[in-house]
Amino acid sequence: MSSATPTTTLQFLAIPQSLADEARRTLTDRFGHRLHVTKAQGPCRLCLRVPNAPEDLILLSYQPLPDTGPYAEVGPIYIHAKGCEPYADSQTFPADFAGRRLVLRAYGHNGDIVDAVVTEPGEAERAAAAFLRDESIAEVHVRHASYTCFDFKIVRAA
Ligand SMILES: [Zn+2]
Repeated sequence: MSSATPTTTLQFLAIPQSLADEARRTLTDRFGHRLHVTKAQGPCRLCLRVPNAPEDLILLSYQPLPDTGPYAEVGPIYIHAKGCEPYADSQTFPADFAGRRLVLRAYGHNGDIVDAVVTEPGEAERAAAAFLRDESIAEVHVRHASYTCFDFKIVRAA
């Protein structure tokens, strides 16, 4: 008799393209900040690439959770200044983040935080899957381990 553990298929989500397009077009973010193009090494939260050398990026404020409560914090993210391809391989952990220590924050369906962990390089995908086996967790946010800026979301594949 099989006792296989049900697997949780994960989906790795960049920021919405519409938000990046709007910031590029208006050079204003949704919090009213005036934006400009700067040379930096990302990572870009739309294509989920980490440039090897400084590239033209825009820094903007982003709120990864809906504005339903105190956990809906706002923080800085980079996007490429010119159109880049949104991250499309949504069932694969973004390769440019695989070698990093990361912070994973798990949020419930009401936007409250449920749990959090710091993961060593290569461990984030397994840790996110473990969080998302718990039905009370709606999404996991991946963040930089020291700066703690938002990088991308992990959810259950539909
Ligand atoms: Zn990009």
